[in-house]
Amino acid sequence: MVNIILLGPPGAGKGTQAKRLVDERAMVQLSTGDMLREAKSSGTEMGRRVADVMARGQLVTDDIVIGLIEEKIGQGAGGGFIFDGFPRTLKQADALAALLQKTGQTLDAVVEMQVDDAALVARITGRFTCGKCGEVYHDKTRPTKVSGTCDVCGSHDLKRRADDNEDALKTRLMEYYKKTSPLIGYYYAKNQLSTVDGLAEMDSVAAAISKILDKT
Ligand code: ADP
Ligand code: ZN
Repeated sequence: MVNIILLGPPGAGKGTQAKRLVDERAMVQLSTGDMLREAKSSGTEMGRRVADVMARGQLVTDDIVIGLIEEKIGQGAGGGFIFDGFPRTLKQADALAALLQKTGQTLDAVVEMQVDDAALVARITGRFTCGKCGEVYHDKTRPTKVSGTCDVCGSHDLKRRADDNEDALKTRLMEYYKKTSPLIGYYYAKNQLSTVDGLAEMDSVAAAISKILDKT
């Protein structure tokens, strides 16, 4: 059982790689972004409170996301957890360490996915996903074969995220540099950080991550 964090700016490809690890290694993906979006669409009180914050590209409060993770990690997952989009602040990183310790689990690796800003903007503005199976597409680099239809499952429910626009993305990047990028130093100092080139081809990124996991 290996528990890892995927760390990187919005659009670095964390979700894509997490999905592969779920398929290939039976790991369990814990995406705070997905959990918050679910809360939003299920119309809970918390979901309503965070919707605006997310649409603007700002971070949701630490207590909310820490609470979401706490509910999920229990005594662990067979194949291990992939923390995707969490932690995003030093306070969240400390909380995760405490939660893992309390439940007798370890953090085995932190994988930083490095991608430059220009590539992030290009990737995110143009991104859409299948609401049914979660497949990720892009207007320019990976359009669907038939317009409006998912290649994988045939669904017509293709969606764009409310925060995948230039304004919100600017805020998301600022939040990342101010609040999340300090975690790179935090985990480096703990000797837990590995870095992969997020601009490489998807399969090469996956191979680089696999190598890191096999070493733990
Ligand atoms: P991305 O990494 O592409 O920006 P996510 O789906 O991980 O997208 O997150 C979307 C939004 O959800 C964030 O911009 C933020 O508002 C909120 N969010 C997700 N995870 C966290 C977190 N750990 N702490 C605070 N806010 C979060
Ligand atoms: Zn689909």
